[in-house]
Amino acid sequence: MRRYRKAKIVATLGPATSDESAIGALFEAGADVFRMNFSHGSHEDHAARIAQIRGLEKKYDRPIGIIADLQGPKLRVGEFADGSTRLEDGQSFRFDLNEALGDGRRAPLPHPEVFAALEPGMGLLVDDGKIRLEVTDVSVDFADTKVINGGDISNHKGVNVPDVVLELSPLTEKDRGDLRFALQVGVEWIALSFVQRPEDIAEARKLIAGRAAVMAKLEKPMALNSLEGIVSLCDAIMVARGDLGVEMPPEEVPIQQKRIVAACRAAGKPVIVATQMLDSMVHSPSPTRAEASDVATAVYDGADAVMLSAETAVGDFAPQAVAMMDRIIARVEKDPHYAQQLAASRLPPEATAADAITTSARQVAETISAAAVVTFTSTGSTTLRAARERPAVPIVGLTPRAETARRLVLAWGVHAVETEDLQSFRDMVISAIRVVKEQEMAEVGEALAITAGVPFGTPGATNILRIAWVE
Ligand code: PGA
Ligand code: MN
Repeated sequence: MRRYRKAKIVATLGPATSDESAIGALFEAGADVFRMNFSHGSHEDHAARIAQIRGLEKKYDRPIGIIADLQGPKLRVGEFADGSTRLEDGQSFRFDLNEALGDGRRAPLPHPEVFAALEPGMGLLVDDGKIRLEVTDVSVDFADTKVINGGDISNHKGVNVPDVVLELSPLTEKDRGDLRFALQVGVEWIALSFVQRPEDIAEARKLIAGRAAVMAKLEKPMALNSLEGIVSLCDAIMVARGDLGVEMPPEEVPIQQKRIVAACRAAGKPVIVATQMLDSMVHSPSPTRAEASDVATAVYDGADAVMLSAETAVGDFAPQAVAMMDRIIARVEKDPHYAQQLAASRLPPEATAADAITTSARQVAETISAAAVVTFTSTGSTTLRAARERPAVPIVGLTPRAETARRLVLAWGVHAVETEDLQSFRDMVISAIRVVKEQEMAEVGEALAITAGVPFGTPGATNILRIAWVE
């Protein structure tokens, strides 16, 4: 199951992909990492899918990454006496903490932190932004609004408050239960939804305590005000364009997408571009041309991964959607323009030994047309620095830790392989040559640019660059 592309594919699992053959079909079509969406499904469903993924790892002898995507503090309106009501443009409507069922004039909104943060003039959005309201008056337990864009509002519809940071923990009670479950069954990534500020990551990190890597979903405009701080505190980022596009005007989304991808590339953190990428493939065997172009744009920008959501979770053409992404990525990566664009957007190394070595490894590999850059890594950090270089050749990430191999699967250009724990540099070179031959990544006579840290087992100690010839 060798992939012949650099950008990775994340596929969300759901009702359309819940048995081993369906998940296996996604993997065979090119999915590298699977996402469990904890907004849907029971713990039993997720546990069964995770077990099937671990089965696929054995069957194909390849590491596979798993993301547990927590629902986060999604705000919802309460219930109506008639299940719903119609809001007309220009009318006034109240949200309050009263538990009585809603009617044509008011509805319960059981989130005191919203009333604490709102001010007159601010916007309130309902049902993915289809309904827009403007706050006219507010107190601790109600907000009066004027309807700007009306429509039907029904039980439990999502509410967005784009203009303000809310005093909300990034982890609800449900998230905490889901987190305990996910860490217990074992996943590589915990994705946090509706992150607002760097402190949100710090709080989650304390609970996760190193048992999984932390991914921040950027879907709140307020989070973009502290983009650098959030990127520096987490291990990866998802550009969650679904909710982001509800909270900001559509014309802002592509600009912010490029800004986020650039910030992550500068920091050397994996970044996923997500949501609606091949949305029409939920019901159609082929994408629109605009969707193909959207996937291509993310790849040209150097994103580590692109993601499928409903396309693979509930779609009628799940493996076809993965295969289509695979084709679009592979085609872009053949374009000479793509290599030029990546070279032009390459960032200078930081003043560290690891960056000095990995920059040189890329230069050496490109100069002598080596078959690969091979990095020995325990935490994965050196391999991520090598990926930050966006080299023209594949990066092999060799690690004795299964969880590191699984995490590295998400990173651009990285072919992760779990190896035995090695004790000498000589053994590392022998092992690197054996692995690239086994994985059919190099032939006899080809060169490898190998990086490692001596003495071994000291994370962050990368200090050797060696050219070796495959024999
Ligand atoms: P979701 O996140 O699918 O969990 O809502 C992605 C997004 O908002 O784009
Ligand atoms: Mn979202």
